[in-house]
Amino acid sequence: MKPFIVANWKCNPASLKGAKLLFDSVARGIKNVRKVEVVICPPFIYLSNIQHLKSNIQLGGQDCFWEEKGAYTGEISPSMLKDLGVEYVIIGHSERRKYLKETDEMVNKKIEAALKQGLKPILCIDKISQLKKDLEGVIIAYEPLFAIGTGKPCSIGKAKKMRILIKKNLKRGAPILYGGSVNSQNAQDYIKKAGFQGLLVGSASLNSKEFLSIVKGIDSL
Ligand code: PEP
Repeated sequence: MKPFIVANWKCNPASLKGAKLLFDSVARGIKNVRKVEVVICPPFIYLSNIQHLKSNIQLGGQDCFWEEKGAYTGEISPSMLKDLGVEYVIIGHSERRKYLKETDEMVNKKIEAALKQGLKPILCIDKISQLKKDLEGVIIAYEPLFAIGTGKPCSIGKAKKMRILIKKNLKRGAPILYGGSVNSQNAQDYIKKAGFQGLLVGSASLNSKEFLSIVKGIDSL
């Protein structure tokens, strides 16, 4: 299986023009990348304007709702994402748990709904208790809270221990990604030394030069 590099743009960039420029710059830069699956998760509103079909980048949503349609103001459903050609969806990101009070119960319902539509959910966790379900078809992202957006990445040793623990707690094998202050200096170590199958990249994915350097570094392993 190819390593995954997932870019979580969060609530950035501030304009569609900026989003297109960033996407195009990454798409151009990875034309010859063959050994890495690159997934970009922009804000929902940019998804339909990004011409991903002409590139080797897959699209992901940053969240989805658990119902398919109905009176749920502001929500985006898994089938709406699927309809736009989206393949992946981040679920349970710690920022949603913190600012929008998402619970494990809500996260589980979202995972089920996403799987039903054939999306590949990327479940973010920072502790083992968040791994309750039989998670077939789900990609796990270990994202320690202290490392997200802080510039203070988790040590390779601690990250490796957590990866092994997550693996032990899964009924079936699943790709396990690391996320938290990944940059071009530390990215390779999470794959090579800590054994993760990919990376979830926040801040560094907003700088195309830095993001391309991460992707190319992994492609060269
Ligand atoms: C994230 O938000 O998923 C993340 C890993 O952010 P950062 O890379 O900025 O720490």
